[in-house]
Amino acid sequence: MSEKLGFIGLGIMGKGMALNLLKKGFDVCVWNRTKSKTEELVSAGATAGDSPADVTAKSDIIFICVSDTPDVEAVVLGENGVLETVKAGSLVIDHSTISPQTTKDIAAKIEAKGAKMLDAPISGGNEGAANGTLSIMIGGDSDQVERAMPYLEAMGKTITHVGAQGAGQSVKLVNQILVIGTMVSLGEAMLFAQASGLDMQKTLDAVSGGAAGSWTLSNRGPQVAQRDWRPGFTIDLQQKDLRLVLEAADQMAVPAMTTSLAFNLYRTLQAKGLGHEGNHAIVKALENLVDIKVGE
Ligand code: NAP
Repeated sequence: MSEKLGFIGLGIMGKGMALNLLKKGFDVCVWNRTKSKTEELVSAGATAGDSPADVTAKSDIIFICVSDTPDVEAVVLGENGVLETVKAGSLVIDHSTISPQTTKDIAAKIEAKGAKMLDAPISGGNEGAANGTLSIMIGGDSDQVERAMPYLEAMGKTITHVGAQGAGQSVKLVNQILVIGTMVSLGEAMLFAQASGLDMQKTLDAVSGGAAGSWTLSNRGPQVAQRDWRPGFTIDLQQKDLRLVLEAADQMAVPAMTTSLAFNLYRTLQAKGLGHEGNHAIVKALENLVDIKVGE
């Protein structure tokens, strides 16, 4: 028999993930800070909880997908938070990308109540969340990973247990270093193509299947060509991840030059009030240096 599930945080990612759990027939109780976002989930068969504590009281496994470290702290440790009602034997799974150290601190508080926690950050964009094809990188105990697997398989395709608590978050930061390098290259390449007078779509078609092919190129390249800045992942959230990388790199005394470059380019866009746009809008920071616009 499947366990009772709770889902906290129905943003770009959480909404698709919770819908995929419902599509598999699981029993899901949802909560979102902005209540209107629960409506689509309730129409799809979910029940709505009154608070994170209420969802937790009604669930055996509680999934969380909110923005940043203080937000996970708010829904878990804050008033009417998960910690108030979590039962011994329950499992909390955090899909948000947050600080590896804070993850360990929160896990210790949850485990003091006899419950368990996995950090299980995700990759694959809003498309991956909607299609159930996310990559999920998990830190925590093997028996809990096994317990969670039927539910994780409803949301993701590449599910990897990478180590102890906090390791999932550290691997996610590795993922972000790789993603951001490709994103900087995408901006640079598209600007170069524009300056060369090339047809953007033909250029993308020509290079996507070769050695330069990537998820970022296939999914965000066409968006850049069409100047469609709707977010799969906002600049503001991208900056949050780059800050986590830069902090961890500083602590470990390892270089993170590309991450630092991207962080500073995005900062110029945030200064112009563009933090709500998709992270592929990094090309605008490069355009601003030379007064050339891709696709115009
Ligand atoms: P989003 O669309 O901005 O959604 C954020 C969610 O967090 C919303 O449900 C929001 O509630 C909730 N939230 C934020 N602060 C809160 C607080 N203090 N208390 C309660 N709820 C709070 O973001 P997203 O793109 O889904 O990202 C969610 C997480 O997944 C982030 O950690 C992000 O880094 C990670 N992620 C995102 C992507 C992507 O491509 N989008 C990919 C991989 C990982 P409201 O609706 O009330 O604002």
